[in-house]
Amino acid sequence: MALTGIQIFKLLPKTNCGECGVPTCLAFAMNLAAGKVELASCPYVSDEAKGQLAEASAPPIRPVAIGAGVRAFKTGGETVMFRHEKTFYNPPGLAAIISSDMDSDVLDKKLKEWNALQYERVGLTLRPELVALKDANGDMTSFATAAKKIAEESEFGLVLMTDKIDVMKAGVEACAFKRPLLYAATKVNVDDMGALAKESALPLAVKADSIDDLIGLSDKLTGMGLKDLVLDSGSREIKQAFQDQIAIRRAALKAGNRSLGFPTITFPCEMAGNLDMETVIAAMFIAKYAGIIVLSDFKGENIFPLLLERLNIFTDPQRPMTVTQGIYEIGAPDANSPVLVTTNFSLTYFIVSGEIEGSRVPSWLLIMDTEGLSVMTAWAAGKFAGDVVGAFVKKCGIADKINHRKIIIPGYAASIRGDMEEELPGWEILIGPRDASLIPKYLKDNWK
Ligand code: SF4
Repeated sequence: MALTGIQIFKLLPKTNCGECGVPTCLAFAMNLAAGKVELASCPYVSDEAKGQLAEASAPPIRPVAIGAGVRAFKTGGETVMFRHEKTFYNPPGLAAIISSDMDSDVLDKKLKEWNALQYERVGLTLRPELVALKDANGDMTSFATAAKKIAEESEFGLVLMTDKIDVMKAGVEACAFKRPLLYAATKVNVDDMGALAKESALPLAVKADSIDDLIGLSDKLTGMGLKDLVLDSGSREIKQAFQDQIAIRRAALKAGNRSLGFPTITFPCEMAGNLDMETVIAAMFIAKYAGIIVLSDFKGENIFPLLLERLNIFTDPQRPMTVTQGIYEIGAPDANSPVLVTTNFSLTYFIVSGEIEGSRVPSWLLIMDTEGLSVMTAWAAGKFAGDVVGAFVKKCGIADKINHRKIIIPGYAASIRGDMEEELPGWEILIGPRDASLIPKYLKDNWK
């Protein structure tokens, strides 16, 4: 069971040296109990205390790293049941199935199509992470060949799916460098799969027919020294699978059940007859509480909404979403194109950039860091004041890209014009519309 802040405090040096970044050992203990800091931040904890604290301060759901390279990700590591209590940390990995008997040319085509499903949003690249390679016929060679191809010729991480130990070994040999997830240890093969995962230092999924059986298998594997497990409760019926996710999360967080303190894997691909229904089920598992979600395919129209949902669910609700400060080109602007400035609240950015795009007037959009506040809030807080915006315009480098000196400010921030003119001598400050929906008309009418 987790220790309280006071219990942790009793094990700390109590010198209040402040080297951990907070002024007192008590504050550090409270932060450690809340999972906000790492024990390693205090260099003076005795070895004996370290032993006790490491166990007590370990996250209730172990974070498990899967994959290598740009699509590597961590799953698990969650500390709350509900996002509004704090935040969710590690978005679930999204996987699609490939059968090991798939023709090599078809596999190439699939990987190429799936690789293209990448989307830029709020300064991030959204993309699925995994290919789940499913053993079709127990043929080691075709399984290993496909694993090697996916690992070497694509960025995707892998889930190796077979219950046959020889086939799994062949797959591991072909792609261990990509840190695949091995799926799965079952009642029948748990000893062999556990030994292989331990020897190859790879994460292992555990599949059972019920949560009780899952606990038994999980205990057996942790007893063998395995740490990185992923749980599959075995249910493929939607309601039961949903209840299992909640029961596992609750047991790990509320009851401190270490046997269930691991991320989970779910299979919408085995719960529905078409990709649309799979997508709906996957959307449910993103919210509650899958660590990996396996679909039968990736198509733009199904993966894009899932990626967006995942992005939203796994942002910190206490921090507004932001975009990076800078100059954004919309529609290949040139030296004569209009320049607009607004704040870095992501919703503001999406709306304004969308309206500019819709106007078909190529433009420069300056995004200023206002700590994620919208225009009016930032203005009221003094973060979008005329002198500050003026200084940003000077510094951002837009003057080198244009041959005019005009800048359009949001209509709601019209009052900053005077201060901007003082800060930007020689510039004409134009008042744009208050409502973003009027931007297309404004640009068309005023920027011929
Ligand atoms: Fe206390 Fe360690 Fe932090 Fe120093 S670094 S204040 S000893 S917890």
